[in-house]
Amino acid sequence: MPQVFVKTFGCQANKSDSERILGDYLSRGYSETSNWHEADEVVINTCSVRQSAEDRVTGFLLNIDKYFADKPRPKIILTGCMLHFKEKEIMALLPQIDEILPIGEVGFNQKAIRKDKDKAFIPISSGCNSFCTFCIVPFSRGRERSRPLVDIVKEVEDLASEGYTEVTLLGQNVNSWGLEKVGVALRKLFMDKENFNGETIPSNQSQYFKPQDTPPFVTLLRAVSKINGIKKISFFTSNPWDFWDELIDEIAVNSKIDRFIHLPVQSGSNRILKLMNRGYTRESYLSLINQIKTKIPDAIFGTDIIVGFPGETDDDFNDSLSLIKDVGFKVAFIARYSPRPGTASDRLFPDDVSAKVKKERWEILDQIANKDNLKTRPIVP
Ligand code: SF4
Repeated sequence: MPQVFVKTFGCQANKSDSERILGDYLSRGYSETSNWHEADEVVINTCSVRQSAEDRVTGFLLNIDKYFADKPRPKIILTGCMLHFKEKEIMALLPQIDEILPIGEVGFNQKAIRKDKDKAFIPISSGCNSFCTFCIVPFSRGRERSRPLVDIVKEVEDLASEGYTEVTLLGQNVNSWGLEKVGVALRKLFMDKENFNGETIPSNQSQYFKPQDTPPFVTLLRAVSKINGIKKISFFTSNPWDFWDELIDEIAVNSKIDRFIHLPVQSGSNRILKLMNRGYTRESYLSLINQIKTKIPDAIFGTDIIVGFPGETDDDFNDSLSLIKDVGFKVAFIARYSPRPGTASDRLFPDDVSAKVKKERWEILDQIANKDNLKTRPIVP
């Protein structure tokens, strides 16, 4: 029986994809090995969020090269976010690769092989339409695709019948599930409620979603929480512009839904938020946090923040610092800006904050944001 080894870099979405990639291999008669030295095929599920993540992939391939220098090496398949490079570029950059596997080919419904027998991660959407200027996801994972509700509910029902009690719904914009046909710019307008006028919805959008409709993600949460045996539902990662009032109300009244809310802010400076194309302001983000705190007093928050975005001044950085203090996050994943080839920020803005300043800012934010949370604090990026 041929053996496969799946190496995963990066976020929970990649880990979840790897569970389904492994499922695909096992359904084709492979067995899993936990030792890449013994494998017939090695699948590398890559991360591109920062240059350092891609460097780790290169390092792993060099180890394989070294070990198999004088013996036949396994077939090497590359998947995940490094597929934002064109096939030719990948082959030039990583000559060890024999094949590439677009993640969409594995599909949402391929049976996942999960190590955990109590908690499960369920992909509900993939890709992104938001085009934050620093982010590679819309290029690496493509446009947003939502998995049908019936398929998600069926997978959770099956898991519940196997004894699983906790599920985490996953998506790059998990709370935008079902809204890919509605323009992001329009939904971002909803967040800025003071300036929002429902009549400004273009007619080709209003056929899909009206402000008075129940947001699709709320409908999904209600459907999943009705499943017998499921005691806790988490979701990850939310974005601020689709965090509707109805979603806050649903979390408030539904005791199965996790009180931990991960809401990436990326910067506390309005000037930088605009350059990032985040579509909200510091004020509207804080107003959302306050609204959640009012309706869900036991809510706890996580966030992602980038330091050293092009042109970030001391004042911009201090805005991020004060926002962190104002919100009181339980955990903050702080990243030093790293230009990703092909993104708008790489094309438009020089990477002009020095590595030294990025490191200093990273240390200051990490100390403030994560000082009470040493067990879960992120490793230096
Ligand atoms: S950071 Fe922006 S572009 Fe990247 S996945 Fe999140 S919402 Fe999409």
